[in-house]
Amino acid sequence: MKYYLTAIVLALTAILIFTGIKGQKAPEREAIIEPLKKESFHKITGTIKKGETFFNIFKKYGLNIAEFFKIRDAAADVHHLREVKPGQQYIISVNADKSVNSFSYWIDDDSILSIARKDEDFKSSRIDIEYEKRVMHIGGVITDNLISSIGEGRENLLLALRLSDIFAWDIDFTSDLRNADTFKIIAEALYLNGKFKKYGEILSAELINDRKTYRAYIFEGNEKADYFDETGRNLRKAFLKAPLNFRKISSYYSGARLHPILKVYRPHHGLDYSAPEGTPVSAVGDGRIVFAGTKGGYGNLVEIRHPNGYETLYGHLSKINKEVRNGTFVEQGQIIGYVGSTGLATGPHLHYEMRINDMPTNPLAIKMPSGEPVPASLMAKFREYKNMMDIRIASIKIPSFTFAEKISGNSHSDKL
Ligand SMILES: [Zn+2]
Repeated sequence: MKYYLTAIVLALTAILIFTGIKGQKAPEREAIIEPLKKESFHKITGTIKKGETFFNIFKKYGLNIAEFFKIRDAAADVHHLREVKPGQQYIISVNADKSVNSFSYWIDDDSILSIARKDEDFKSSRIDIEYEKRVMHIGGVITDNLISSIGEGRENLLLALRLSDIFAWDIDFTSDLRNADTFKIIAEALYLNGKFKKYGEILSAELINDRKTYRAYIFEGNEKADYFDETGRNLRKAFLKAPLNFRKISSYYSGARLHPILKVYRPHHGLDYSAPEGTPVSAVGDGRIVFAGTKGGYGNLVEIRHPNGYETLYGHLSKINKEVRNGTFVEQGQIIGYVGSTGLATGPHLHYEMRINDMPTNPLAIKMPSGEPVPASLMAKFREYKNMMDIRIASIKIPSFTFAEKISGNSHSDKL
């Protein structure tokens, strides 16, 4: 009931309407030494540079190395100091004799490692960063691709990927999007000292793709929260819409740099996804590998057997992942290999087939059973939550467009 309650609380807070928010890029921070008035110690503030360690930092500022080892050992209870990440902030307060008084390191967006001197020793603790939660309304028209349409910066990229995850069973974000498709998102927005920091969960979303409307509502059904459609049906299905997963591709091509609009062709029993060599290929569903190797015109091929007589095949791969071997199990979304042009292929593309009881079938046409729906006992609560979200969704205004043009297109030939 977490999201339901959150939504009620949030419903009372101010509504922010954003259409095409600007990126929230954190400014580069240089290390600065800041003398404190009247005190005999000073603060060293900075962010971890690429390849930098705290050992380097202690040496750079002439701090006591024996104390570094004590601090490192104290830190181990909370976070290993060798696992520091570039870009993360730290503050070291130093006494006049160069001994360390206290030490803080921002582990991630949610917690700080805090170390304080206790006589000759140090004691560590974890401080949770408390965010103020607000609700943000985001809406827009998809032009070019989903990522650039939501906005610039890391947080908008993560939001786009989350949205693609929610609809990954119904929409192939690498090839289904059309110009003039629209999206509306109701998301938790986490603020620190009045400033937007990051998005929390997407509470509800609407996507109009090729004039068809898709809706999602987060709700805690039996045990865990899931996304459901307006009738309470689970959005999760046995198979993903496509083997070239938007999230996997986007992170492979380091996010927003790529505009992953791929092309799909259907010249035979399978589907051909035209994609650059090396694009990661994901298993569309859980299953057992029954073939991983070279097979005639297929080139490097992976065959997965799924429950209920389903089988999927992925051909022309440039490389098959090492863990993907005959008899091993793979999970939905797991990367099994990479797009290539091995076997009979005129250029890099993925050849994808689905069979039911050995009969070739069109994966785009089959009706898939969904995961557990909203339980009947919670349906009234779900509807109440849905109605609340619908009001928010309806309040987002998007300029209307009269054209609907397919983004992808082009001809392509293939021998398999
Ligand atoms: Zn093919």
